Amino acid sequence: MNCPMEARQGSDLLLEYTAGRLAPQAASELEAHLEGCARCREFAHSQKMVWQALEAWEAEPVSMDFDRRLFARIEQAPVSWWARVTGQVMHHGVPVAAAAGVIILAGLMLRPAVTPVEPPQESAQVETLGPEQVQSALDDMQMLRDFNHLVRADSAEPRM
Ligand SMILES: [Zn+2]
Repeated sequence: MNCPMEARQGSDLLLEYTAGRLAPQAASELEAHLEGCARCREFAHSQKMVWQALEAWEAEPVSMDFDRRLFARIEQAPVSWWARVTGQVMHHGVPVAAAAGVIILAGLMLRPAVTPVEPPQESAQVETLGPEQVQSALDDMQMLRDFNHLVRADSAEPRM
């Protein structure tokens, strides 16, 4: 097959693959290509690291206490930082919890310390993801938003 990184929408194919959403036929074709293409292999590997980090986070039981502490931390954060991060998101009416999820995600990708299973050089790869790739990963995280929505619906107590 042609190198997907050279093709338009190529990284989408790799993202689908690392997300486990590719049909078995397409997945094995891509795997065959990965054998011989370091560029695609690196990209797929770095995406897998992101997924592993997310799975590690999702495996944690999300308690009310976690939610409360998260919001406490958000409130303690400098206003300009918080406004800058959420300003655009909030314009589109996305709940605060969803924005918080995005921030957790960003934290996972930017802080090697939260993914202890990785050797340091692999963490470095995760850190060097371009904005475009991070955006793609964020786009894949609709489930995170849904998840946060559920958490928020569970905790009926008024907040803010
Ligand atoms: Zn390739």
